[in-house]
Amino acid sequence: MATVAGVAVETGHWIGGERVASAGGSASAPQPTFTDVSPIDERPLAEIARGGARDAEAAVEAARRAFPAWARTGREERARLLHAIADGVEKRIEELAQVETADNGALIRSHRRGVMPRVAHNFRFFADWLLKLGHQDFETRGHTNHVSWDPAGVCALITPWNAPLMLATWKIAPALAAGNTVVLKPAEWTPLTASLLAGITAEAGLPDGVFNVVQGYGAEVGGPLTAHPDVKRISFTGSVPTARIIAASAAPNLTPLSLELGGKSPLIVFADADLDLAVDLAVEQYDNAGQVCLAATRLLVESSIADEFTRRFVEKAGRIKQGDPREETTDIGPQIHRRHLERVDGFVQRAKAAGARALIGGGPNDELGGLYYRPTLFTDAPENAEILTEEVFGPVLTLQTFDTEDQAVAMANGTRFGLAATLATGDPERARRVTGQLVAGTVWVNCFFVRDLQAPFGGARQSGVGREGGDWSFDFYCDLKNTVTAP
Ligand code: NAD
Repeated sequence: MATVAGVAVETGHWIGGERVASAGGSASAPQPTFTDVSPIDERPLAEIARGGARDAEAAVEAARRAFPAWARTGREERARLLHAIADGVEKRIEELAQVETADNGALIRSHRRGVMPRVAHNFRFFADWLLKLGHQDFETRGHTNHVSWDPAGVCALITPWNAPLMLATWKIAPALAAGNTVVLKPAEWTPLTASLLAGITAEAGLPDGVFNVVQGYGAEVGGPLTAHPDVKRISFTGSVPTARIIAASAAPNLTPLSLELGGKSPLIVFADADLDLAVDLAVEQYDNAGQVCLAATRLLVESSIADEFTRRFVEKAGRIKQGDPREETTDIGPQIHRRHLERVDGFVQRAKAAGARALIGGGPNDELGGLYYRPTLFTDAPENAEILTEEVFGPVLTLQTFDTEDQAVAMANGTRFGLAATLATGDPERARRVTGQLVAGTVWVNCFFVRDLQAPFGGARQSGVGREGGDWSFDFYCDLKNTVTAP
């Protein structure tokens, strides 16, 4: 047990309804714990159970045993329990917000007012969607076809650190609603709110073993989890290199995968756009200190307005208040970890060496020290420069100009990613034309980050495999069955 931001947090795994220490004895996880550090001041927050193969095995076994009874539980009862979990989240919004901010350095104000209420909504939405699911009966020559969504079994859910509880519950809620049991492996840099959620599920009355959490490093505990033959679905959000390892580990069992990966999304600003709106959308891309998969990090601006756009952007970005994320007035906080900050800085220094010009930022924030990195905007990056093609996952944007719509589309599509794209234009006909040509899972026109849980969410190309959201989540977390009955 540790105390973080005044909140007691259990530090063990959560397996079969019990807090357990690491089993140890595995070559892959030599130490029983690892140290979780706060990005706000790089101080240790807690010693967390460091899982290995035996912990993954125990969690899958607990989930496998709990599965038959949970799968038989009626839809109304499953929905009731998910609403009870949402009630528990809502009662603890302040605690969850405080702990998440201490753990991942994102803003307390957005955790309080946006993220944690949304976590509760994730449970409510999929509970309600479950009750609407399945009116697909039809007739063939007098025979009836009945389509059912059968739960698949044990689901392994592996999540990143940039929005820990939000992204985890976007998977947990539909997986549980569908009648599956779950083993969650949160990111090692942000283990805490998953542990709090385990307590909330128990208080809500979720049967033991239906929801389990294993803590630890990806290779040590995530590897054995994703290779386990009793795991029937793997849903992963994270980076492309890890996705390749997980896909290889799932291959021998042919375990179905849902992969939500990185991006290098464009914001295309046409000369006919509302320029104030376009500048607001561009500056918004620094939110969460740039650690957002969907961020439109490539600003593509029509040449005729580029000077004015840049002037207004630099002016507005100069008003961003960087600092302690626990302050209500802070706009952006620190990077998640020293290793991540060094990675971000590596991209920035290589971009400079390649000839790109930093109009703002270009290095760590020396006044604040620690893990604070200055919002950065590059222009004049040479064609195909790394900074234009690779995901930085920090507060680093690039600006390029275009002269024609075709050129804008070609530049927008000119990466190996396809997660999202944003357009700013005053011409609805142009918006339709351009949208039709963009390779992206989500396109926003004159807006950003508006997300409805019933919409399909995922990425094209190397930004992902599959879609989740609404029916798509149930399609992934279920074995669909068609039963044909003679007249
Ligand atoms: P990461 O790939 O390093 O880690 C993600 C998770 O995978 C962690 O829990 C980690 O422990 C685990 N992991 C690592 N190696 C593993 C292995 N061998 N087997 C099993 N699990 C393993 O990613 P990250 O740095 O935590 O997150 C940042 C990335 O996530 C960025 O690329 C970002 O774009 C992406 N992301 C995508 C979305 C989306 O919805 N598309 C959302 C948020 C973040």
